[in-house]
Amino acid sequence: MHNIQQLFQSEDGNIQQRENFLSLLEKIVSSLDELKNPNKTTLGPMKERSANFYQEIMQDHQVPTTGVGLDQVVDELTQLMQGHPYHTRNFVTNVLPMASIPGVLGQFTNALLNGNNLWDVYGPAAAECEVKVVSMMSKLVGYDYTKSFGYTTWGGQGAVFSGLRLAIAKQFPHAKEDGVPNNLYCFASENAHYSLLKSVEAVGIGSKHLVRVKAGKDHAMDVEDLRARMTEVIENGGIPVYVVATTGATDQFGIDDVQAIKEVTTTLEKKYNLQPVHIHADSALGGFYAFFNDYDFKNNPLQFEEEVLQGLSQIHKRMQHLAIADSLCFDFQKLGQTPYLTSLFLVKDGKSLQLLDIEDFDTPYVGNRGYGSYHTGYTLECSRMGSSIAIFAALQAFGKEGYQQLLANYVRVNLAFRAQLAEKTPMLQVVNETNIGPVTAFRLYPDGLNWQAEQAGHYTQDQIEHINGINASFFEIIGEGRDEVFFGDTTRVCTVHTSDTTQHVPVAAAKFFSISPYTETAHIPDMIHFLQQKLNVLEASHIAYRH
Ligand SMILES: *Cc1c(COP(=O)(O)O)cnc(C)c1O
Repeated sequence: MHNIQQLFQSEDGNIQQRENFLSLLEKIVSSLDELKNPNKTTLGPMKERSANFYQEIMQDHQVPTTGVGLDQVVDELTQLMQGHPYHTRNFVTNVLPMASIPGVLGQFTNALLNGNNLWDVYGPAAAECEVKVVSMMSKLVGYDYTKSFGYTTWGGQGAVFSGLRLAIAKQFPHAKEDGVPNNLYCFASENAHYSLLKSVEAVGIGSKHLVRVKAGKDHAMDVEDLRARMTEVIENGGIPVYVVATTGATDQFGIDDVQAIKEVTTTLEKKYNLQPVHIHADSALGGFYAFFNDYDFKNNPLQFEEEVLQGLSQIHKRMQHLAIADSLCFDFQKLGQTPYLTSLFLVKDGKSLQLLDIEDFDTPYVGNRGYGSYHTGYTLECSRMGSSIAIFAALQAFGKEGYQQLLANYVRVNLAFRAQLAEKTPMLQVVNETNIGPVTAFRLYPDGLNWQAEQAGHYTQDQIEHINGINASFFEIIGEGRDEVFFGDTTRVCTVHTSDTTQHVPVAAAKFFSISPYTETAHIPDMIHFLQQKLNVLEASHIAYRH
């Protein structure tokens, strides 16, 4: 028994147990440091995985009869680090951030306390932090903090799902008991994240009732198409319940115009005498640019370069309207630089969460006591991790200005990347030119072909698919070198129409996603050089990419 107790933090704060614990932590951190190399994107060489890699793992592992001891556990943990991706300057693949120190400390504190965020009797630290960060972020986006509310949840996906639960409950408070009517509809841009698809499936609305609205040339939702599609649904007896406005799309940073979307829904509500349609701003990724909501663009106190300032001000024009949305989300594990999973769901009218709550009768051992006033019975989760602590720590450590500097640098390096790409590798063309932000999507074109003509619908379906094929080969080649520079890619950054069919065809593109705090403009030339080398490899590989 005594040995088993040694596997825990001390009960009384004794020095010896603390020092044992700290020396294990020291070992973990120093092992990580030994593997670091700023010019690589992995910790040590990349791991090759054989075809039956996971099968072998399954065969080889069972619970040991006798525990192996903490030194060996730490050895095994540090082995797990070998070949792991690491977010150095050359890590430009997707929104997979480096967890900042305040974020890690917050998560660590939470782990030490192991409070359950379900109830403030069990997790007071997390409950307090949750109320703090809900209020802090409400004020930031322009919600009335005395009315808004929210909670940390399972990802941007969880926020889209919670928004939908709320949207249904607001129009159909008895759907909880009676089930969901079979004529409900949801709307989102064709460039929206697939979170909504899974959510409409899960609540039983059915994915055939998810209407995908066309996106315009700026990759944002075409609001006239939204108006047309909603009208069509309503005139056929359908009831619109939920519109998701993607404010910062994952592949090209298209920003839907929440203000214009709201104008469409209110017009249709009046015209057809409908109940209000819930608008969720899927701001999981882009919402962080609301840190510029009260930036003084005129006096520019952080002295951003003219071009960067212009880019930020362009994002600001759309993000300043986030507060029009009925709910929204901040994925702190993305641009908030905290560890997984630290997503915050915010609701403009906090009282509406009551619609999702369950009765005291159904929660016999929590809530409903004189000594516990914060019981989150309205979340889909029961027990919840206290991720609000990590969020709180990061907000305190960075402050508005810290985030502004970080987010401005993502814009800065993207602008530099685009400029050098245009100059050095004109066959790689930017397909999200109008979307300034943390990501550049670029596409390889054979001689004579270009994005302008393709976007305008001048190419045949065969031509577009041929270009997609070339890009797929290119992704394979740049992907093989990902331990040097880790670019991202997508098989559908948007769709285009063709000159010979009625189809909308997906457009594949590579991505430069700036997410590491260590990526600076000085590192861009090496990345462009990397792409040039890989283009040479592609050409040498006899893939007929010239016409
Ligand atoms: C990442 C992302 C999501 C999904 O968020 P998770 O935290 O991975 O669940 C949803 N929407 C957008 C716009 C995103 O960028």
